[in-house]
Amino acid sequence: MSKPDLPQIPDYAAILETICAEVQPLLHQGKVASYIPQLSKVSRDRFGMAVYCLDGRTFSIGDAQQKFSLQSVTKLFALALAFSREGDSIWERVGREPSGNPFNSLVQLEYEKGKPRNPFINAGALVMTDILSSRFVESDIAVLQFARMIADEISVDFDLAVARSERDTAHRNYAIAHLMKDFGNLHNPVKTVIDSYCRQCSITMTCAELAKAGSFLAQHGTIPWSGQQILDASSAKRLNALMLTCGTYDAAGDFAYRVGLPAKSGVGGGILALVPGELAVAVWSPGLDHTGNSLAGTYALERFTTLTSRSIF
Ligand code: GLU
Repeated sequence: MSKPDLPQIPDYAAILETICAEVQPLLHQGKVASYIPQLSKVSRDRFGMAVYCLDGRTFSIGDAQQKFSLQSVTKLFALALAFSREGDSIWERVGREPSGNPFNSLVQLEYEKGKPRNPFINAGALVMTDILSSRFVESDIAVLQFARMIADEISVDFDLAVARSERDTAHRNYAIAHLMKDFGNLHNPVKTVIDSYCRQCSITMTCAELAKAGSFLAQHGTIPWSGQQILDASSAKRLNALMLTCGTYDAAGDFAYRVGLPAKSGVGGGILALVPGELAVAVWSPGLDHTGNSLAGTYALERFTTLTSRSIF
């Protein structure tokens, strides 16, 4: 049987135009996150998408130059930074399995004795913040500097109004952190970890910046434009695998089925996805589906892999 013809060089500009037109009816269907009050101020009909090819070509559409709150997408940066500095020792304190539970759940943590299932649920991300807090004077500043470096963009910054809004309502994350502290899996003061975590989550980027920032993970751990190695190829492979299995909340199975790419999403409505060896793609639309992933963003990525014939499968 002959293989189906794959387009050698997809027309990304035309494909983004098609996708942008197709998602319009979906932009009114999602629900903007409101449990962090400041996030609910964003209008849900926004949509942006950007592609960063490893050869340096870039494509974007819609609100791709608009900054938005990265939220859980920053968990990927914190993990990459912690993994690059601490290596495999991080796995003594956090697992590598999907949780099958909501990202902010406490239940599993109780019966698994304070060891979070993976670094992308809140409990696991708080452990990453704790690890970075033991290593750097201020872990949130370390993550911010890392984000600026991988995005090649000095204007990347915290949104302190969002950080305050999250910190003032972070009752559940406080509960998670206290529980882990009780199990001995948090070494720094709970307040230090929560404050740093909230500032880290408030980092904003545009889709164009986010796609560029993620490109080192598509290029086996090395920044494409500078040649700087952030992670060795094996570590980059492992982070890609974690993104595929755990990166899109407890919808990771369905996301893999529909999109077929490693990805990390956030409740700000952003999703970063990777086509290893080829490109990074970022999408933003603040209306979320019932699992917490951007509704239009997930659909846009599903169409992207279909129209470009690019996926990891
Ligand atoms: N800062 C958010 C929280 O901890 C991040 C959630 C997310 O984007 O999944 O609730």
